[in-house]
Amino acid sequence: MFDLNPVFIPGPTNIPDRLRHAMNVQTRDHRAPDFVETFAPVLRDTKKVFGTEHGQVVFFPASGTGGWEAGITNTLSAGDKVLIARYGMFSHRWIDLCQRHGLDVHIIECAWGSGAPAQKFAEILNADKQHQYKAVMVTHNETATGVRSDIAAVRAAMDSASHPALLMVDCVSSLASMPFEMDNWGVDIAVAGSQKGFMLATGMAILGVSQKAQAAMQNAKLARAFFDFRDMLKANASGGFPYTPPLQLIYGMRESLAMLFEEGLENVYSRHHRLAEGVRQAVAAWDMKLCAQSPDLYSDTVSAIYVPAGFDSNKLTNHAFNTYAVSFGIGLGEMNGKAFRIGHLGALTDVMVLSGLAAIEMAMADLNYPIQLGSGVAAAQQYYRSTAQKSA
Ligand SMILES: *Cc1c(COP(=O)(O)O)cnc(C)c1O
Repeated sequence: MFDLNPVFIPGPTNIPDRLRHAMNVQTRDHRAPDFVETFAPVLRDTKKVFGTEHGQVVFFPASGTGGWEAGITNTLSAGDKVLIARYGMFSHRWIDLCQRHGLDVHIIECAWGSGAPAQKFAEILNADKQHQYKAVMVTHNETATGVRSDIAAVRAAMDSASHPALLMVDCVSSLASMPFEMDNWGVDIAVAGSQKGFMLATGMAILGVSQKAQAAMQNAKLARAFFDFRDMLKANASGGFPYTPPLQLIYGMRESLAMLFEEGLENVYSRHHRLAEGVRQAVAAWDMKLCAQSPDLYSDTVSAIYVPAGFDSNKLTNHAFNTYAVSFGIGLGEMNGKAFRIGHLGALTDVMVLSGLAAIEMAMADLNYPIQLGSGVAAAQQYYRSTAQKSA
């Protein structure tokens, strides 16, 4: 019975029954003439979620990390200078991946809890008259800290310097849950995955690739074979795949897109905002602090919450799991032991969020946290009651 409990980790997310059923399909021949009828609409419709008309979408059998690797190996060459800010575990891991591929990574160190430093990017790019930087990389939603960065501001910074670098954005934990505007923001590579906002099983890296990135792919020298965009785009153009596609995930994707469009993307985004705001009301009622430094940075898909001094957040998440069979995100990297995370993305309703808040409150009370049982739940209830109309 415990497996009925939702997870409150920020990915992989809860898989609705409708999508689990959609993924439960018998093998089909991906070289049969009718595969294109399944696949082509999925490619086309995924573009709407990225907010792109001019770019292409590609799928690789991989997790999001594979998407990063595909993005850089297809557009850059060893020794290329790239600019990236480190403000959490995921931006850190992206930096590590770039370094292992022999890129010359200029890192801007930022406090965890802050977002992409657009102003700082503008200064550095303005000074780069030789245009040595080939790419700027930004984690849109830093899942470790619950911080959403302003991609439009980064684009404005690049434009203010008239800089031709590619803009690469990790939107793994934001796409299909928070607004994303690939064309409007001038994003060249956008990296997502199947297991977060799309509510599917893990196993597909999903990328948006701009025309500028497709031009860069002709000259990029980093080695790639499995992840070569050229093979993928060529096969996709005729409705095929260069090797065996993850068929069940493609069926799942078709149904996921149907669900997102039935609800309406704007409604999906406002549902996530409302769910997140309820969690934030609870955090305030507990008199605890978010890692995100200011409201403009609050993520609508994940909240990272500091536990009071003297408490160990790992004990809290372990206790919640062992006693109530509910998973919450642990603190990552430098936040390990100091913070826990509530994932509120994907297939989730206010009723489900209330159950998660109630469960973590029980765990906190068991461990003698200075909170009043029910206080966070009540705060979220008040907020959900007062906004229920909007979500209907
Ligand atoms: C989940 C996630 C990833 C990708 O992780 P995988 O485990 O490789 O799918 C990358 N970036 C962010 C911000 C994420 O939340």
